[in-house]
Amino acid sequence: MVKAVVGANWGDEGKGKITDTLAEEADIIVRFQGGANAGHTIVNNYGKFALHTLPSGVFYGHTTSIIGNGVALNIPILMDEIASIVNRNVPKPKILVSDRAQVVMPYHVLLDQYEEERLAGKSFGSTKSGIAPFYSDKYAKIGFQVSELFEEALLREKVARVVEMKNVLFEHFYHKPLIDAAELLDTLHDYRDKIAPYVCDVSAFLDTAIKEGKTILLEGQLGTLKDPDHGIYPMVTSSSTLAAYGAIGAGIPPYEIKQIITVCKAYSSAVGAGAFVSEIFGEEADELRRRGGDGGEFGATTGRPRRMGWFDCVASKYGCRLQGTTDVAFTVLDVLGYLDEIPVCVGYEIDGEVTTDFPTTAKLEKAKPVLKTLPGWKCDIRGIKNYEDLPQNCRDYVEFIEEQIGYPITMVSNGPGREDIIYRSQS
Ligand code: GDP
Repeated sequence: MVKAVVGANWGDEGKGKITDTLAEEADIIVRFQGGANAGHTIVNNYGKFALHTLPSGVFYGHTTSIIGNGVALNIPILMDEIASIVNRNVPKPKILVSDRAQVVMPYHVLLDQYEEERLAGKSFGSTKSGIAPFYSDKYAKIGFQVSELFEEALLREKVARVVEMKNVLFEHFYHKPLIDAAELLDTLHDYRDKIAPYVCDVSAFLDTAIKEGKTILLEGQLGTLKDPDHGIYPMVTSSSTLAAYGAIGAGIPPYEIKQIITVCKAYSSAVGAGAFVSEIFGEEADELRRRGGDGGEFGATTGRPRRMGWFDCVASKYGCRLQGTTDVAFTVLDVLGYLDEIPVCVGYEIDGEVTTDFPTTAKLEKAKPVLKTLPGWKCDIRGIKNYEDLPQNCRDYVEFIEEQIGYPITMVSNGPGREDIIYRSQS
């Protein structure tokens, strides 16, 4: 049984927490896209962790954690991350890395930095982890597959060829120091030796696991609105954030994905540039940011303060539809307990017309939020285990949003911990 855990919005919806919770009953957790540019925050009995590359199942002894072929694999960051959890007494996890995953090269990270410098104020807010240059090279067919690290003659030839191309850019466009091919080759040998113990034919491994009836979680990074095709292009990420891509990025048949759990946060947050229709500012935003998530809404990878907004039904309905949602996990609901009234964005006004359909980017830039205000519940709902025990106004908030987005909210998360989850059966 394969399940996907993906985001409906701009990322940071709480996918890590939901994956960590569901991983208790899973055998294998797979990262299928993205790289070390975003992070998940996970709170469990070992402490609080920010993961960037490892799947959120690594804290259980019984799970296998997989880096699929669709991931931008940064080998030094993966090694540091493994060391950082083992150093904090988490048992050494079982990790497999696809032989078809491609490697983030040191020059990808540099290109990202140089490009951000060049664009100065006009940048898209990249995390400078080399992700866009990495995926550009993958599709330009000059990327390095993990398998190629083990083919010395091929590797030497390819390093020479690619360095020649990159150095034209470094010299004439960015006016930066050139890449030394011999040094790069040494770095790749070091990468090869470090990654060797983990390399495997992941697709074949998952094929066997599916036949054996194992439970497999596909863990998405970011959310629908950052998808390069269906998101707010060009303020998007460089790999697909959709559950459908899980089949490709893990190497499994699409029809094996039986459950798609789309994570929606009870309010909105976003990082980076781009239209954010329900955004709020000033003291109202500061307070939500301070109280939000677990210890404030600041990026797990970058520490950047997140942009804040009210729940956006238009974006979330669209986000859930593109994921192919079977279940919605509605997270961080506890944080809203301080508000007397809670505005919710129920439509976009564009050129004088109200719509509930999420538009393309140029139209989105013109959209103004249509807000509806719901009463708050003014109490702490952490620790509540049954849906019926939530205050009436809180249930009304959940059910109002469920109706607006049109997908069943089957899980409500009321705290950052694994056990802070309310399962809701559909009537
Ligand atoms: P992800 O990238 O989708 O996994 O999201 P992040 O980890 O970046 O952001 C979610 C934040 O909210 C983290 O700090 C989590 O610990 C926290 N979190 C997740 N679910 C809940 C919840 O139900 N309540 C509270 N208060 N915090 C939560």
